[in-house]
Amino acid sequence: MSLSSFIPPQRTLMGPGPSDVSARVLSALARPTIGHLDPLFVSMMDEVKALLQYAFQTKNEFTIALSAPGSAGMEACFVNLITPEDTVVVCRNGVFGARMIENVERIGAKCVIVDGTWGRAVDAQQLERKLQKHPEARFVAFVHAETSTGALSDAKALCEIAKAHNCLTIVDAVTSLGGVELAVDEWQIDAVYSGSQKCLSCVPGISPISFSEQAVEVIKNRKSPVPSWFLDQSLVMAYWSGEGKRAYHHTAPVNSLYALHEALLILKEEGLENSWARHKAQHQKLATGLANLGLEFIVPAAERLPQLNAVTIPKGIDDAKVRAYLLNEYNLEIGAGLGAFAGEAWRIGLMGHAARSENVALCLAALKDALAKFG
Ligand SMILES: *Cc1c(COP(=O)(O)O)cnc(C)c1O
Repeated sequence: MSLSSFIPPQRTLMGPGPSDVSARVLSALARPTIGHLDPLFVSMMDEVKALLQYAFQTKNEFTIALSAPGSAGMEACFVNLITPEDTVVVCRNGVFGARMIENVERIGAKCVIVDGTWGRAVDAQQLERKLQKHPEARFVAFVHAETSTGALSDAKALCEIAKAHNCLTIVDAVTSLGGVELAVDEWQIDAVYSGSQKCLSCVPGISPISFSEQAVEVIKNRKSPVPSWFLDQSLVMAYWSGEGKRAYHHTAPVNSLYALHEALLILKEEGLENSWARHKAQHQKLATGLANLGLEFIVPAAERLPQLNAVTIPKGIDDAKVRAYLLNEYNLEIGAGLGAFAGEAWRIGLMGHAARSENVALCLAALKDALAKFG
């Protein structure tokens, strides 16, 4: 076997993530690696924290970038906050809500499920009824932007209901951060996690997380240690804060954090509101084009995520063949269906740097060609 350097092709990434990474972020990644306790690196981490507070719209002191993907951010929230004595209400309307349930069950806590319809937002009335039936519940968890279906839930309304029942809120904002409005403090979200590779358009492998003061209190008052050493946030807190005397916990992914810093800076320069508006405008352009091709959205218009467009694969069309054709002929990646939608849907992402007119035009032209060829 003769081995040589791996040179990936230049793809256009319009799936459920990772999304296109800009040249600016890629060049940040290539800067010289320095020590993770180097004073200059430590001050850059402080800036990452401030930029994350902006992106999440929070003053939470505990706002950091976890050195692991979004799934670890999810697990960090559950494993730190929940103990086996707790009752947790989880809303499920897709794959990621189902994963939340698995997290609760593995901890050994009681899980009350609000079962919703795939392709629809979480039903606030249904959550209200469940909470009335379960006054013992201490937490409510849901996915803001269900990437498996393309549905956006009303996080503000769901948190309001949870708070009225004295519950802490755990919110999956992996796909929502930077792409649609998210106001962690105003909406009273107690624990939130995201991912670097969706609407932030950074390289995969980092999970921004933020805990409210109340959530931090819950962690501090735990009677049993967090069952995961790596994700124990009481240890990580000392690494990300602690005024100049940071304790070694693990080696941060130094260059990936340069990239996240750059990606967050790009978001700050554009402005959150402008970024949301851009995602929406590109989504509308794409939706018009998809309708012209005869493709139907799975999610009703009012509950649609601009950054993840799920459409039904027309009858008689070979899903795998079309996606392979787009990849080989156009260097374009779109997402396959996930979970209940496997083989039934395509998921077209317009995330972060990928939410641009040229991407929308390429995607529509390539799909038109593929549908004519395979239809
Ligand atoms: C992508 C995604 C995750 C998981 O993130 P990874 O970085 O793949 O671990 C979790 N929740 C939602 C809603 C996602 O879209």
